[in-house]
Amino acid sequence: MRIANLSGRLSIVADGRALDVETASGGEFSSDPQAVYERWDEFVAWATAADAGAAVAYSDDDLGAPTPRPRQIFAIGLNYREHAEESGFAIPEHPVVFTKFPSSIGGPRVDIELPSDTIDYEVELVVVIGREAHRISAAEAWSHVAGLTAGQDVSDRAVQSRGPAPQFNLAKSFPNFSPIGPVVVTADEFADADSIRVQTLVETDGSEAGVQDGNTDDLIFTVPDLISRLSQTLTLYPGDLIFTGTPSGVGLGKKPPVYLRRGQTLITRIEGVGELRNRLV
Ligand code: ZN
Repeated sequence: MRIANLSGRLSIVADGRALDVETASGGEFSSDPQAVYERWDEFVAWATAADAGAAVAYSDDDLGAPTPRPRQIFAIGLNYREHAEESGFAIPEHPVVFTKFPSSIGGPRVDIELPSDTIDYEVELVVVIGREAHRISAAEAWSHVAGLTAGQDVSDRAVQSRGPAPQFNLAKSFPNFSPIGPVVVTADEFADADSIRVQTLVETDGSEAGVQDGNTDDLIFTVPDLISRLSQTLTLYPGDLIFTGTPSGVGLGKKPPVYLRRGQTLITRIEGVGELRNRLV
């Protein structure tokens, strides 16, 4: 199942058509795209049997962030071997965890305002939690996942390295620095949910150039491992997000660094999920 936010309304999309959930369910489920995760099991049971006859064509321009107001956002640093190396760090023994504040969430087509000339990209597979998780094992973890989506962990590298210790949270939380979407896809839709291609491309004057191309089968801490480890400390709530880390190829890793520029379009592609296209302004 593929779940979208169309003009602020929860929708199920398939074959280019969208079913408005509140209307199709006769008001049983709210139109609020964030609220559905609180009733995830009930929703999946309803959606599996729902009549898609009322689905209508939609425009990608109407897609918003599929989970617009997560209670918590976790992001994982240095979770791909080559990216840890390009960043000058040892392979971590424990996940490096920081947050992106929820006010940084943006949609798959939103413009991103660049606050400086040191803005960098990081494609990331993003996990959406569907069932509360505290002290669970990795074997149980996938049953706590609602689905997967595509995300960018946009960063201001100058802000990140400002001060005596890294400022990850602040540097990665400017408005629209966490674009996600275009849809949330349930794990059963993937041939192998532990092996998904993730890419960043940058379009400049109409021509696209690939800058990151990785696969989640290279993750140091896998999706179930991350959920289990995070849940040993804290409680994951329905609708929370985990940005699972980025592969090598970030602008900071180049010598000299190559950062994003106004007028370019940041393209984020995740196999089985779709594409984000964010203009940089
Ligand atoms: Zn990141």
